[in-house]
This record gives sequence, C-alpha cells and structure tokens, in this order.
Amino acid sequence: MTGVVYLVGAGPGAADLLTLRAAGLLKDADVVFHDALVPEQILRLCSKAIKVTVGKRSGMHSTAQAFINKRLVDAARKHRVVVRLKGGDPMLFGRAHEELAWLKRHRIRCVVVPGVTAALAATAELGVSLTARGHSRSVAFLTTRAAAGERRNDWVKVALAADTVVIYMGAGEAEAIASALIAEGKSPATPVALVEHASLPGVRKLSGTLAQLPALVARCGKGPVAILMGEVYRDAAVSNIIPSWPNEKTTEPSSSSPTARATRSGRGRSSSS
Ligand code: SAH
Repeated sequence: MTGVVYLVGAGPGAADLLTLRAAGLLKDADVVFHDALVPEQILRLCSKAIKVTVGKRSGMHSTAQAFINKRLVDAARKHRVVVRLKGGDPMLFGRAHEELAWLKRHRIRCVVVPGVTAALAATAELGVSLTARGHSRSVAFLTTRAAAGERRNDWVKVALAADTVVIYMGAGEAEAIASALIAEGKSPATPVALVEHASLPGVRKLSGTLAQLPALVARCGKGPVAILMGEVYRDAAVSNIIPSWPNEKTTEPSSSSPTARATRSGRGRSSSS
C-alpha cells in the first residue's frame, strides 16, 4: 500500500482560519510533518497522528529539505494519510515545488490543500484592501531572500512595478530593503505597514514610511512579520485604523508625530498587541 501525501496550508496561525478540508485531514492523518511555527492549537487537531517537527523557523538548508523529502516518501510507503503541514499557503515561499517534484519522481500521489497566506491575514488585520479602484490594480508578494545562484536584487524591479507590495521574510533585511528601493526611485514617504503575528493574540501593527522601515522593524518582537507597502496603507492612517506619520522626514517617529500625539491623547497607539 502506498499512501497519499497532502501538502496542507496551516494558515497564518489562528486555528479557525484553517480550511475545513485541512482540519478534516489533520483529524484523519496518520503522520503530520509540520513547520516549527505551526501553533499548538492547530496541532491538537491531529488526534491520532504521529507529529514530527521539521524545518527551521526561517530558512532551511537543502540538506534539511532533502531529509524531509526522504521522510515523506518513507512515510507514504507505510501510512495511508501523510500530511505535510506548512504555515500559510503551502505554494507560497514554502519550498513546495521541491517536495512535489520529489514525490512525483517517487510516484507518490500528492494533493495540495491551500491555506490563508500571511499577506492576506496581515492586510485583514489592518482592515485595508490590497487593491483599490483608482490607485491599486496590482499586488506583488515577494521575498528579498535569494537562493544560491539567484540574482539578489531582482525583487527591486517587482517592488517598483506593483502598486501594493507584501514582503515575506523581510524583517531581517529592513535596512537593505529601504535603501535599495529609495536608491531606485521609490519615494521615502511611501506608506509602509508591518504586521507581526497576524491572526494571533499577540498581533502587533505598526505603520510609517519606507524611510522609517528599519526603525519600525526594530520595534517588532521575534515573531513572523509581514511588510506591506503602498498608497493603500495611507488610507489606513486616514481612517485611523492604524496610526501613521507619513510626512515625517526622520527615520524614528518623533514625539511630535501624529502617532505620538494620538498616543498621548489616548486616541491611538503605534502598536497594538
Ligand atoms: N507559506 C507562508 C510563508 C512562509 S515564509 C505563507 O503563505 O504565509 C515565512 C514568512 O511569512 C515570515 O517571515 C513572515 O514574513 C510571513 N508570515 C508568516 N506567518 C505570519 C504571521 N502570522 N504574521 C505575519 N507574517 C507572517
């Protein structure tokens, strides 16, 4: 008997953002290989499965990936329902292509179950539509991280071309992101929003400008952070969903910023948790 491997999206973290299909598979699974970021509340749904943590929190060496590939094949030869549970959507920055190719090569049936990706959960937290009639008709989901052999700055062109940009795994490269974009002509005043731990109780939301990106990232904790950029996030400030200081010239929000004023008067906060 050879089982089926399901590549399942765990969503951004909140268990109730799992799809019904994902929840059903977790209940039915014999083995679940999951990312380190998948929360306990979701793992509790795997009532009878052997649970195996695989993958580092961010980034993974190819040796580690090869090991996962091999374990998936071995598990499918022993079990009926094998789940590979990945944060967000499995087909976005999740190395699904490598697992799919490997499984295909070993003639193991593989089914993909989509999940809510971080960009969607993050912009939902902000209450801001990624697109807006009149000024945002294109959205780019990108990462600045490059694999060996990839050109590191290819993402800049994409970020300049799209109206709204969501950057994954970008918190560690805030300085480089801001300077590369500004050097290529993106306005330093472009509205930027950061959402850490989207969909989870510890969610933190910050907003400012592209020039302030490094200072904003410095205020985040150690959780996963989505960086969102574009005019649509200026509207968020206007509607007071997130406070902002779009016209500031400094990299650190000053005490005279609208945010600081709002905080002092108790009308808003620069972060929420
Ligand atoms: N496949 C995943 C992305 C994996 S890359 C998806 O579709 O969401 C990991 C990156 O996703 C993190 O560095 C962060 O940028 C983002 N991310 C994942 N979960 C997040 C969350 N709950 N809140 C904010 N960003 C998150």
